[in-house]
Amino acid sequence: MFMFNGGDVLKFKIFREFPNVVQGISTKKFGSIRNQNIETENLKKFLKVLDVNNGQTVFMNQIHGNKVVIINGTDKQIIDRTDGLVTNKKNIFLCVTTADCLPIVFYDPFLKIVGAVHAGYKGILNGILDSLIYKIRELNGNIDKVLVGIGPGIEIDCYDVDFKRFNLFKNKFDKFKNIYKLKKGKYFIDLKKIAYKILIQNNIKKENIEMSTICTKCDSRFFSNRNGDKNSRFITIIGMI
Ligand SMILES: [Zn+2]
Repeated sequence: MFMFNGGDVLKFKIFREFPNVVQGISTKKFGSIRNQNIETENLKKFLKVLDVNNGQTVFMNQIHGNKVVIINGTDKQIIDRTDGLVTNKKNIFLCVTTADCLPIVFYDPFLKIVGAVHAGYKGILNGILDSLIYKIRELNGNIDKVLVGIGPGIEIDCYDVDFKRFNLFKNKFDKFKNIYKLKKGKYFIDLKKIAYKILIQNNIKKENIEMSTICTKCDSRFFSNRNGDKNSRFITIIGMI
């Protein structure tokens, strides 16, 4: 990843060679951004850096589910009860807001499809990543060509969970190695590694995945639910021009 606009915006390197892809992640410098109607001024400041019009953004009322919606330009600007968006249209900018959950963005450089998902622990258990890949296939995307960016989120050392949650992961992903650890009687889960392994399992190529090592709880540039930011969110956006 690299910093853009003097460090205010974080970008994935993996999309850098595609000038038609507009993508960025906000830092706290813009304040909290949740959707077009809340904290609008913060959103506008952020979009200005990326040269995106607020009227072209699409947000979700994220509910940690596995629903992914294909956006074709006639939709509402906030899609209800959804955690993933896909489009093959230009000038539609897909937005995910997070604070510890994983923002994950996709781009198929051949069929020109972009996608974005909100992947927290419930969403991952519910299959949000499988749903997104299913939708890309529905648009005839080439999974083995798709580029993926996994954004800043909570890292394993900061993500201790109770036994019940630990067991949900252990049972669902029993084939995955090194996705959790036990330390001083506590269970820690590696959400990023689980997301990565799900992508690989779905035939996304290793070399086509860029994973942020930023931990939102440790890095003060980003909002973190576990660090006390209960209502504040940062935004991850992707679209094509
Ligand atoms: Zn941390």
